[in-house]
Amino acid sequence: MLEILYPRLFISSLPELDLSHLLKLGIKGILLDLDNTIIPRNTESCSPEIIDWLNKLQGSGFKLCIISNNKSARVKMMAGELKIPAVHYAFKPFKRAFCQALSLLKTSPEETAVIGDQIFTDILGGNRLGLFTILVVPLNGKEHWLTRLINRRLEKALMFCWRKR
Ligand SMILES: [Mg+2]
Repeated sequence: MLEILYPRLFISSLPELDLSHLLKLGIKGILLDLDNTIIPRNTESCSPEIIDWLNKLQGSGFKLCIISNNKSARVKMMAGELKIPAVHYAFKPFKRAFCQALSLLKTSPEETAVIGDQIFTDILGGNRLGLFTILVVPLNGKEHWLTRLINRRLEKALMFCWRKR
């Protein structure tokens, strides 16, 4: 049911991700959601654990790109700090920004994973293009009211259905 919304992998935190598994799958590029995936939405700095993890990803040979629906000032600042290219105002789940990120990384959809905390933006968008989609439990930053009001409620209902099968 609703396969287009189903992530290929569920993880509870980023450091838990098995990088050797991704390498075995032929993944070369990773698109990263910003808010509540690598930093809490209401903060402006990355935890040391996540910075270590990002370094580990790059050390393992993965090419990274941030893809965020947030506005350019915030995304550019974080991308600059982390020295990772970024696409802002992404309008996920629309395909345009995902395509932009793929062309920045020069990877094909089959060679690319996307990691995010939201089914209706990160996972849906990634699945539409055939990326390897990874859903991570959100960090605890304060969420946009629309996310709370609509997306999270629908996610809850979906998870309930998935758990039953
Ligand atoms: Mg997010």
